[in-house]
Parts: sequence; structure tokens; C-alpha cells
Amino acid sequence: MHELSLTQNLIEIAEEHARRENATVITNVTIEIGALSGVMPEAVEFAFEACTKDTLAEGATLEIRRIPALGRCQQCSQQCAMENLLDGCSACGSYALDILKGQEMSLIEMEID
Ligand SMILES: [Zn+2]
Repeated sequence: MHELSLTQNLIEIAEEHARRENATVITNVTIEIGALSGVMPEAVEFAFEACTKDTLAEGATLEIRRIPALGRCQQCSQQCAMENLLDGCSACGSYALDILKGQEMSLIEMEID
């Protein structure tokens, strides 16, 4: 499962931050999932519970924010939000869009104690 390794990676980053702050527990983790990342939030929730066992983040709450992707039109340079890969330019209708963001999943915020 794609989400499992991504989630594991995020938890490692979170733990590293927490240790640097001399925290003993992570109470909340907030992540952003781009609309074009192909990552399923439900799968991340599932993976989070499994991967946080015996880590500083065990029992932490997980907040997932799904963000629209951002594309730039190759024809008219308009930037527009994209919910899926088949979305065209909102200004000229072209489908030749460069994806600027929204293909990633990233750690946004965390609360530690
Ligand atoms: Zn356009």
C-alpha cells in the first residue's frame, strides 16, 4: 500500500521534530493531501494508527486536510485549482496544464508535549 510508506515517512519526520524539542509525546498531527496525489485519506488514517504504535505519536489525533491542486495553463498562463487530472483551464478551457502543486502529502502542523 502506497499510503503506508508515505505515512511511515511522515511519522518519522514528526518524531524527529519532537525529539529535537525534547518532547515525549506527540498529541496531534495535521497533514495536507493534494487532490492529485492519489493518496486516499481513509488509507492514511488506517496506516497512521498502525504506524504510530510504539512511537511518540501513539494515540495522537490525526487531522487530514485535503487541498485542491494548482495548475498553470500552458496556453494562457492562468493558474487554476484542479480537483482531478481531467480539469481544464478555467479561463480558456485548454487541457494543457502544468501541475504546480497538489501531488504531495505533507506534514503541516503537530502538537507535542
Ligand atoms: Zn488557459
